[in-house]
Amino acid sequence: MEANYYLAKQIVQEKCPEKNCFYPVLILGIFALLEKYPDRQEFIHDLFLNIILYIKDAPIEELVKDCGIDANNFENDEKKIASGGQTTYGLSTLSSFFYITDDNRMAKSTHPIYLLLSSLCDPEILLNFFIHEMNHIIKSQVNSFRLSHHKDYDTCGIRNGLNFVVYDYHPKTNTVHEANYYAIMDEAINTIQTTEMMNHLLSYQGIYPDPEIQEFLDSCDQEAMKKDISYVLEASLFRQLWKDSTFCQIIENHIVEGDLGPIAEYYDSIMGESEFEILGDYFDGLDAAECSKNRRHRIPEIESYIQEKINEYWKRKEKTYQS
Ligand SMILES: [Zn+2]
Repeated sequence: MEANYYLAKQIVQEKCPEKNCFYPVLILGIFALLEKYPDRQEFIHDLFLNIILYIKDAPIEELVKDCGIDANNFENDEKKIASGGQTTYGLSTLSSFFYITDDNRMAKSTHPIYLLLSSLCDPEILLNFFIHEMNHIIKSQVNSFRLSHHKDYDTCGIRNGLNFVVYDYHPKTNTVHEANYYAIMDEAINTIQTTEMMNHLLSYQGIYPDPEIQEFLDSCDQEAMKKDISYVLEASLFRQLWKDSTFCQIIENHIVEGDLGPIAEYYDSIMGESEFEILGDYFDGLDAAECSKNRRHRIPEIESYIQEKINEYWKRKEKTYQS
């Protein structure tokens, strides 16, 4: 614990003075991430120093306005993509996005990564959202942007964790077609990882060397720290698969680089061809149902489809163990 804790202090102090009221949140958050990704210390250090971190006692919409971020909107011919979407208290953005050039081609553009947090919430929620958004950012740095030019259209792929969004731009009609894959499954995984990190922080309760850090933890609702805050239903469903330590390890080994192949292959080897994609679609369906008129009927329906798939998954796994 000690080495990562002191490294977290060193990293945070390069960006934030100790007297800052958010200092304990940053120390604990960076410490949790260093513990989770012990082989990526330098990566986390550089990433944290380079992001634009903005925490304010105001609604997240106000922070977004302050920073001039217009997620998922064409503005000045630039399509800026927000990763993880905007939640009640937090937002992080991807560093790469595309824009349409004057001669009607797609081109890559970059901006600094923004991490915005509203502190109009309880301390454990602020800590949870900091870890959640930083975890998204960590998983969106490698293999995150792909651009290809075709005869009649251009294609751009943007990746974050398992989430992959493909945009096709058709100059003749000046339209962009968007296809989004594994968005909600990625959120479920991000939520599970965040809750695991929060629990990990609690496991050192009472032995943090700095009183202000210990005091901050004491001010948190520790029962709430043990629970998922966002994507509660999605995380509780996916957690049943996460319990398969082999599958969990394969996801952990490949999600930062966004290598979907081995993850889907393992799941499909148990459930059959294209089943991982089908499961991903069901998870995305949960999100779509959330906004639909008949959500009260539609959400339990999709939930039971997913549950059936998970039950089948374990039935097949157990059969393999027995034979
Ligand atoms: Zn998220």
